[in-house]
Amino acid sequence: MLVVMNHNAGNEDIDRVVETIREMGYEARPIPGRQRTSVGLIGNDGRVDAGRLEGLPGVREVIPVTKPYKQVSREWKEDDTVVTLPNGTAIGGPEVALFAGPCAVESEEQILGIARRLRDAGATVLRGGAFKPRTSPYSFQGLGLEGLKLLARAREETGLAVITEAIDPEGVDLVAEYADVIQIGARNMQNYPLLRRAGRVGKPVLLKRGMSATINELLLAAEYLLAEGNDQVILCERGVRSFDTHTRNLLDLTAIPVVKSLSHLPIIADPSHGTGVRAKVIPMARAAVAAGADGLIVEVHPDPTRALSDGAQSLYPEQFEELVGQIEVIARAIGRSLVPALHAAGSRG
Ligand code: PEP
Ligand code: MN
Repeated sequence: MLVVMNHNAGNEDIDRVVETIREMGYEARPIPGRQRTSVGLIGNDGRVDAGRLEGLPGVREVIPVTKPYKQVSREWKEDDTVVTLPNGTAIGGPEVALFAGPCAVESEEQILGIARRLRDAGATVLRGGAFKPRTSPYSFQGLGLEGLKLLARAREETGLAVITEAIDPEGVDLVAEYADVIQIGARNMQNYPLLRRAGRVGKPVLLKRGMSATINELLLAAEYLLAEGNDQVILCERGVRSFDTHTRNLLDLTAIPVVKSLSHLPIIADPSHGTGVRAKVIPMARAAVAAGADGLIVEVHPDPTRALSDGAQSLYPEQFEELVGQIEVIARAIGRSLVPALHAAGSRG
């Protein structure tokens, strides 16, 4: 339930609404907006006396939030959420953000080399798994803590922000020590203890759509993060299972405008896992930006044929460079631009 204030309501009116909600035994969350402030009532068990709130000074109306996800919905918050990273990359505003890097961190030489190249090409966020959720227990599982340290070094040297995956609740705090964004992978989209922990960690979270998850399930998974107090959430469409075998997954680009209408949260696209095939990554990356994605997360490896994971879908660095030029044009055609490239090491140019 949402208590919408008049545009000229004062702070004392808002405080009174917050206090009244608390007195009624619920949690209150003020949501400042461009036009007016609203106060969200969390935990509505169907017994809330809306009349008591409607009668308070400064209250314009009390509206039920009809969607099963509450804080994630546009009914709850009309304005787009913009997630801003320490290096200035803003996700969810007018700019399109480029996240790129190898599937997994493999060595110092690999990650530092590719990080410099990606920064020079115009990416502002470096991806790379240190803890890898592999389909087979015999596949490379990642460098773990050493991988996190290498990512932090790459950030120091290049100014790129760092995103990496946490695969279990116990690992969230460690990942948060090193990363600017915590990635929750497709296989873990409905790992509720992991979501709750990530919701309390105080860092932005990228939540990837599960490979068989509906859009409502994705939004409800995100609700776990917001319910714990973390509204710095970026959603990611990374493809769903389909009956066709030409690609690894079916990148559901419809999800982008659908999510945009249902939720205020930013959504980016992962054309790498979304296709699983290098030659299909660039066309789908272009299409995702055209469809309104707030960014891309793309796997790029200095030598894909030798990659320890996902080599078949990893772009060569020069392909990424070419893609950035194309994305720039597409972004401009729809009234957007790319997040400005980083120039001098460790700072924004
Ligand atoms: C990844 O980003 O490397 C990854 C494992 O992705 P997903 O969780 O989407 O499969
Ligand atoms: Mn991968």
